[in-house]
Amino acid sequence: MKYTFEITICGCATNCGHCYVDGGPGPIMPYEDYALCLNRLVPALKRLDGNIAFNLGNETFCHPRVVDLFRLTDRVCPQYFDRRNEDFPTTGVALLRHRDRENILRELERKGIWELFFAVHGGQEAHDRMVSRPGRFTQLFETADFLVSRGFHVRFSLMLSRVFAEGLDEIMERISRYPGAKIDPIIPLYAPTPRLRTYQQYRLESQELLALCDRLDSWQVDTAKVRKLCANCSEQVVWAAHKNFAAERSSAPNWAFFHVTHDLKLYYGNAGMHTRLLGDLRTMTAQQVYEAIAPLGPNYDFDAFYPMEAFEQLHAMPRPTTDRVYPSHPDCYYAWLDELGVHNLLIK
Ligand code: SF4
Repeated sequence: MKYTFEITICGCATNCGHCYVDGGPGPIMPYEDYALCLNRLVPALKRLDGNIAFNLGNETFCHPRVVDLFRLTDRVCPQYFDRRNEDFPTTGVALLRHRDRENILRELERKGIWELFFAVHGGQEAHDRMVSRPGRFTQLFETADFLVSRGFHVRFSLMLSRVFAEGLDEIMERISRYPGAKIDPIIPLYAPTPRLRTYQQYRLESQELLALCDRLDSWQVDTAKVRKLCANCSEQVVWAAHKNFAAERSSAPNWAFFHVTHDLKLYYGNAGMHTRLLGDLRTMTAQQVYEAIAPLGPNYDFDAFYPMEAFEQLHAMPRPTTDRVYPSHPDCYYAWLDELGVHNLLIK
């Protein structure tokens, strides 16, 4: 099984509308607590049979001692934080302003990370509105310029929404100044959280999305995946499709998510989507950590959010009046169940 441990070492420089980990400005995990976290987690994880990865969130570069955390992780468990040949997310702000930014770049190089990616929500007004912070659009591109000047590659995820559509030409003109940069159009996922409920007003319907794809094509953006999602994952298509929820559940990724909060609470479920408190790493032994994690199965989809029997209600659902597009069928199911007011399994 694949295991991902999201360890919240700090908050973010933004407060993004599409954020499923419920990120935003937040407290810092002290270096000593991070060392304690590794001390409790790593011996337990070494006994698990699986592919294990750490993610230091929310926005790694917001931590004042991120370089020390990278070095400690590489001494204790480099196998869990191997990001070679992967891109690395940033909003730009924290990295550019970090007093230790030169050492951060050296650490990234040492770890074989040569590409950083930025999620963009549209032109200046659109982007700053969607991340709830003025000035972030400008700072994002200042950081992109800085990284390119230091030999790094930059990549852009286009967060497609009604707001993005308003600022499309402005953002694409800005991105076109980075020849060769990879560009990934993204349809944000859905989970039954307050933030994603609010984001629904910006979610594009199939016809709107196809019109947006035509405009993106003129900027040479590859829209094939988005067009495929319009054809396979719009509400009208999902509603009309034959639904065998048990079969879909059995083909979901064999992947379990856990979260360690800044104050060392260990949860089953990703950040922002906890379903069970497993304990406090300050007081748990490595043996107790192992016993808490080892019996737990994948929680990537379906019964990670709703009991399996809840999905059967969707067979009786009348045809939707909208045709919003999701990145997968399960995302569409969660949105419908949430709108129907079905109780979900998430805890605060
Ligand atoms: S999307 Fe990323 S940067 Fe934005 S609030 Fe969430 S965790 Fe932070």
